[in-house]
Amino acid sequence: VSESEPKPQKRSAQAQGQLLLGGELVPPTELRAERTSELRERKPPESADCHYARVALFVPLSNAYSFSIPDSMRTGVHVGARVLCGLRGRQVFGVVLEAAFGNPGCPIERLQPLLAVVAEQPAVPGELLCFLQELADYYLAPIGEVMRLAVPALERSAAAELEQQGLGVASARSVGRLTWFVERVEATSAGEKTSDQTTPHPPLRGQTLALFSALAGRGAVKLAELEGEFPNARAAAQRLTKLGLCRLEKRSDLQTSSDSAVERDTPPALNTAQSSAVAALCARLEAGGPHNFLLHGVTASGKTEVYLHAVSRCLELGGGALVLVPEIALTPQLLSRFRARLGDTIAVLHSGLGTRERTAMWKRLRSGELKVALGARSALFAPVENLRLLCVDEEQDSSFKQEEGVRYNARDMALLRALRAGAVCVLGSATPSLKSFHAVQTNKLERLSLPSRAHQDAILPEVEVVDLRRHGPGPTGDRWLSLPLYRALERVLERKEQGILFLNRRGFAPSVRCHDCGVVLGCPSCEVPLTYHVKPAPHVICHYCDFRAAAPDRCRQCNSPALGFDGLGTERVEEALRTSFPEARIARLDRDTGAGLKSEGLLRRMQARELDLLVGTQMVTKGHDLPGVTLVGVLNGDAGLSLPDYQASERTFQLLVQVAGRAGRAGARGRVLVQTYTPEHPAIALALAHDVLGFARYALADRATFNYPPFSRLALVRISSLEENVARSTAEVLADRARAAAADRAEILGPAPAPLPRLRNQYRFRFMVRSPSRAALRHVLTRVGAAKVDGRVRVVLDIDPGSML
Ligand code: ADP
Ligand code: ZN
Ligand code: ZN
Repeated sequence: VSESEPKPQKRSAQAQGQLLLGGELVPPTELRAERTSELRERKPPESADCHYARVALFVPLSNAYSFSIPDSMRTGVHVGARVLCGLRGRQVFGVVLEAAFGNPGCPIERLQPLLAVVAEQPAVPGELLCFLQELADYYLAPIGEVMRLAVPALERSAAAELEQQGLGVASARSVGRLTWFVERVEATSAGEKTSDQTTPHPPLRGQTLALFSALAGRGAVKLAELEGEFPNARAAAQRLTKLGLCRLEKRSDLQTSSDSAVERDTPPALNTAQSSAVAALCARLEAGGPHNFLLHGVTASGKTEVYLHAVSRCLELGGGALVLVPEIALTPQLLSRFRARLGDTIAVLHSGLGTRERTAMWKRLRSGELKVALGARSALFAPVENLRLLCVDEEQDSSFKQEEGVRYNARDMALLRALRAGAVCVLGSATPSLKSFHAVQTNKLERLSLPSRAHQDAILPEVEVVDLRRHGPGPTGDRWLSLPLYRALERVLERKEQGILFLNRRGFAPSVRCHDCGVVLGCPSCEVPLTYHVKPAPHVICHYCDFRAAAPDRCRQCNSPALGFDGLGTERVEEALRTSFPEARIARLDRDTGAGLKSEGLLRRMQARELDLLVGTQMVTKGHDLPGVTLVGVLNGDAGLSLPDYQASERTFQLLVQVAGRAGRAGARGRVLVQTYTPEHPAIALALAHDVLGFARYALADRATFNYPPFSRLALVRISSLEENVARSTAEVLADRARAAAADRAEILGPAPAPLPRLRNQYRFRFMVRSPSRAALRHVLTRVGAAKVDGRVRVVLDIDPGSML
């Protein structure tokens, strides 16, 4: 996206008018302030000059509105100032995008006056304000909605202003979610002497004793983490607290004892590849000005180390930095690495932050007290002062794309923000996206390479394929547990090493089928099969809408009891492994075993070698350093290849390389077994060979042939309604409109039912707009967005769509 098209930024009033119309998908009929765009269309400007302000209101689906500036406020209304405006009897806050003396495009008496200036000082840095407007333009999204992403809720409400004094004081301690922590009170501080730490007085029994022992020497431990091992951890901790042996208290989860004990670590001596990457980055940082890098380093090549060096240099130069990571990678481990190096200058922004914490972080960044923002997707909007460096780790990760509201891609937009801020942007990955490779070829990104693992003794794992067409079921009789994989697991257990099994599907079985009439049990509100889960009790779940029901014991159609569970999920794998290897310590990591805290607990146990085998979904593929893992088994390597998405093979390739990267990160050489029915597929064959460049060549040629991005620009227009006919006819009308606007400058493909034709009772249709030219694509979408549609229909413009489903 942005790496290729630096857009000239002075937009004419005309262009702006068009744009506002285009961005408006659902006309907010209840909002009746004067809309400059509408007025421009309706009547030629005949009004006199005046002082007016264009304001982004913090109202969903709202575009910019114009207000007149009363004389009394004239000195206080600057670009970025926060103002209070009247909007149909309500008072709403907004940010001034433009304050001018001139022709507002409508009669003065139709403009409402601003009610008050809330804060003269700009709400966000100027660079960020411009960026937000460009982002709104790019995604044809209402500016009001985009502003809401950048300014925390409390700052947008009147309450914030009244409370302002009390707010800004939240200390670093309150950063992070508040969760329960348990910590042993050491004998001395409890004022009591115990001869032996494990047998304190009074005598403890059962889980209370076990918990007390488990806490020895560990500092503060999250209760949730302990609950994995000790189901009664809370009661036990309460008992211990009563006895004065432990402390149970709520603390911020990102502020664990290991964090609070953060000592500045000594950076490892960089290897040659890291040194030259750091040198290149620092040279650009020093020179200033926008520049984009692709940091392409194999898994565990020390990319994080490179970011840390670049951020340090950036701070020395007096600049601020932004580091974006996939949500799943935002672990306490990563944070302590950053804290250990950069100290207390970091704001950590993550989805678990409460409103107040978020606001506090935001203010500390805004004031320049904190200089680095680290977070997932939404940290893109952090008000970092004097932004000079942006790093996006795992830039190919699909979590950078927001799939609701403003459908932005934080990776793409990081390039745009860097460009506008005159900052250096580093996209890092072991498996760069095809668009990044393409950008390297077209000189929009400069590639820096870390070709080998950072630890000298860590080498890339040996990857082997298990052709499921040739290998029958192993000793267990399960088809998916082939003999080679079974033997490899045996070996790992024998040698007391660790293994990870990856399967991209949670639950026990992806579908329930009646063996008599053949009917598959479907979700009542979606057109998808229900997934069968056994734990904690047999039930079925729709993985799309989260519908849940008890597992049926008879077919709904023919009442036969002969129900079969088709396919494979992580629960089934776990169960089969427990049967086959009863002596092994096995755990499962997926959304059902717990997100966030619980998953960290499991990974911690894996690190501490308290587990032998870990079965899981993507959650096992990222983040943690697991040095004991010498085997990674991919159960179904081709699972993603059959999806109706032009990116299917790119995703499969990236996933396989990432999973493989979990094996043998330090010390012993790892082994990766990929079971597949299509070993010859390039996405699999090249992943087996760690041939990232080879895959990029193959896949880019393929994209060129079929005219898919990065060789074309793509957008999806998604149309949904509870009523199938209404959705279909709207899709047809809009597609016709698109065709008319496209002429021969853009292709319209569809409309057609979406690959998931019914979700949450909504019938879904879509069509695709494709064009070599961004401008042509934009023109078509603007026309589609401006169309009046039936109130029962929802139309969504998805520009550079992530998932095609
Ligand atoms: P990546 O982000 O590329 O996956 P990391 O930065 O996490 O890699 O580094 C992988 C491991 O190698 C970490 O344990 C890190 O501390 C270590 N490491 C990084 N650079 C060096 C170096 N120059 N010398 C020794 N160890 C290093
Ligand atoms: Zn049946
Ligand atoms: Zn459903």
